[in-house]
Amino acid sequence: MHRRITGKLVIATHNPGKLAEMRELLAPHGVEAVSAGELDLAEPEETGDSFRANAAIKATASANATGLPAFADDSGLVVDALDGAPGIYSARWAGEAKDFMAAMTRIERLLQERGATMPNQRKAQFVSALCVAWPDGHLEEVEAHVDGTLVWPPRGTAGFGYDPAFLPDGYARTFGEMTSVEKHGLPPLGLGLSHRARAFVKLAEICLEPR
Ligand code: IMP
Repeated sequence: MHRRITGKLVIATHNPGKLAEMRELLAPHGVEAVSAGELDLAEPEETGDSFRANAAIKATASANATGLPAFADDSGLVVDALDGAPGIYSARWAGEAKDFMAAMTRIERLLQERGATMPNQRKAQFVSALCVAWPDGHLEEVEAHVDGTLVWPPRGTAGFGYDPAFLPDGYARTFGEMTSVEKHGLPPLGLGLSHRARAFVKLAEICLEPR
């Protein structure tokens, strides 16, 4: 049985960008979002071996600390020719300086070493796992992805992280060349193209009151 979110929801993130995005998505459903950052909650170590496990670790820690249902996400870039790297280590590949140009360059160097020069050898997915945890241990978990190809050099200055290197299937522009509505706007504004938008649509179907 799926459980619906009503009232207050803790957003287990210290990232103001993610919090703003979540508040926008949740407001029409009558859910009030408070963040782990605002509540000064400690950030747990992400010791899971999958996106799903890390999202559950973060959501569970916040639910246990507050006695409220809590939401967390975990996401990253999975490159087929690199056996799924950087995967759950996507943020860490950019280092303390959050240098994503360096992380994209590292991926490109590894692809070149493997002779992956043709588009079909450069397939990748962005993956998003979302979890809502309740203090009694109940979990709602969804995962979604978007398929694409890595381009070099990176293109565009919009978005964040690996966006400029990621060309979603069926499009001529990278995520770095798209507006945020094109990338992760939800219907009726956008197509719900990104991994996070697609995962959010799935979560809304099972956990939120219809608008
Ligand atoms: P986390 O989900 O906050 O642990 O971070 C995942 C990392 O994956 C981010 O720091 C980005 O490097 C990367 N990532 C996740 N989603 C996106 C996206 O939509 N565009 C670009 N990079 C992303």
